[in-house]
Amino acid sequence: MATRIGVVGAAGRMGRMLLATIAATPGCVIAGGTERPGNPALGEDLGKLAGIEPVGLVLTADPDALFAASDAVLDFTAPSASATHASLAAKHGHAHIIGTTGLEAPERATIEAAAKRAPIVLAPNMSLGVNLLLLMVEQMAKALDTDWDIEIVEMHHRHKVDAPSGTALGLGRAAAKGRGVSLDSVAQRSRDGITGERRKGDIGFATLRGGDVVGEHRVTFAAEGERIEIGHIATSRAIFARGAVKAAIWAQGKPPGLYAMKDVLGL
Ligand code: NAD
Repeated sequence: MATRIGVVGAAGRMGRMLLATIAATPGCVIAGGTERPGNPALGEDLGKLAGIEPVGLVLTADPDALFAASDAVLDFTAPSASATHASLAAKHGHAHIIGTTGLEAPERATIEAAAKRAPIVLAPNMSLGVNLLLLMVEQMAKALDTDWDIEIVEMHHRHKVDAPSGTALGLGRAAAKGRGVSLDSVAQRSRDGITGERRKGDIGFATLRGGDVVGEHRVTFAAEGERIEIGHIATSRAIFARGAVKAAIWAQGKPPGLYAMKDVLGL
């Protein structure tokens, strides 16, 4: 039996890419796609939206029916939408793969509660490369003491609405974990004006926005006399879509719980 995979936010940049990736993955079929009420693409064939052959299913505004009809639903939308969708995943007990970034505490709490009744994979970055980088950054931060200043720089396209990126914050959390501290206690999410000297142990962030950059991240460990730089450059959104479909195949039928991409990738 093919894995039936639905896409919420199917007319978005990632949504269209996800539809095309599901259609191109052996053993998977598109179960349906939704958008916000009022989206001009509602009623369009999902294949046409994705730039592939028509698939005979149209874009709807009914996520409840989509969760009922899917083994797993892919969600790259907006924080409040993903929280609402997680409750639907819990209602139907079907897998939910959330790539949405910029989640705040209330949305996380809703998703954590939903994960008691459905398998949910929550990953600010679905690429294999970034997930390896997360592990390496944690290990490096563990090995290097606070004489090494950690700074994280990211760049994304001009349409991105949240900053720093979910991946940059994930890298910060990995570094903080390596040092045995919470990111909230050491994060410097931006700097402006007379900031004073850098506080020892802080993890700094800088954000660049422009053009069509898919996603670039660099973590610098800077000490007196030497510096280590490690990073990742995404040149295609396809890496995120492939990771999301992989997560959907992995998660269907798994016991309820909140999973990360490292669980999917076996890292
Ligand atoms: P986008 O704005 O192009 O697409 C989002 C889509 O979701 C839009 O079409 C919007 O109308 C739709 N949407 C919003 N609320 C909805 C709702 N309630 N129901 C149905 N649809 C709804 O944005 P994008 O570039 O595709 O990115 C979407 C999200 O995915 C962002 O948070 C981004 O940071 C994140 N992202 C994550 C990864 C990853 O690997 N985890 C990779 C790329 C992007």
